[in-house]
Amino acid sequence: MKKYNMIKTIGMVLGASIFAMYSANEVNAEEMTTYKIKSGDSLSQIAIDNGLSLDKLISDNNIKNPNKIYVGNKIKLDSSKQKTKQSSNKNNSVKNEQSNGYAHPLNMPGVTVSSEFGYRQDPTGYSGTQHDGIDLAVGTGTPVYAVKSGVVVEAGYHYSAGNYVIIKHDNGKYTYYFHLSSINVSANQQVGQSSFIGNVGSTGYSTGAHLHFGISTSLWSGFENPRNYVAF
Ligand SMILES: [Zn+2]
Repeated sequence: MKKYNMIKTIGMVLGASIFAMYSANEVNAEEMTTYKIKSGDSLSQIAIDNGLSLDKLISDNNIKNPNKIYVGNKIKLDSSKQKTKQSSNKNNSVKNEQSNGYAHPLNMPGVTVSSEFGYRQDPTGYSGTQHDGIDLAVGTGTPVYAVKSGVVVEAGYHYSAGNYVIIKHDNGKYTYYFHLSSINVSANQQVGQSSFIGNVGSTGYSTGAHLHFGISTSLWSGFENPRNYVAF
């Protein structure tokens, strides 16, 4: 353990964001292959291409900032692919990543879905009949987490969405978190997967405490069924 800490310290002194070092108790060397980062690569895409979770890729390589990777750097890929090592929690995050790389926004699989994505009767008289997300009925104050790492593109108040957060992810998708009682992030902030971003509330057009969670291909358009990404 001492030796591992020393390696980490040296790495930090050198300013390297990606370490070739990994601790011996995690994965055997024979199970690792090396990948050289090319221009245009993102860690999330590398993870998808190799059937690995982003969290695992980050923890195997001890990456401090997933948004800073450099062309030519080499990263280790665990070719056994079946390992589900839990890494230490950082930045108020919890480990709840699902198999396809998206975490649950409440870390509460099995939560009550009070309204599905798609056509519905307008519950408030103002929200419209096309529901652009899914409503998860939980109590006021329940913590809300980013489903993937990304950058906060909007965080504020909207007459309909209430206190809301929108995150843009490396894969081009946007995720939406509406009706919050409080917001814990601000625009342009980088967030990690499962970072705490706010608390459930009932602000804006809402009939009771719930999280409205949405996902889209463009900012405020191209909404998709969140069930295609997250098992609620
Ligand atoms: Zn909703």
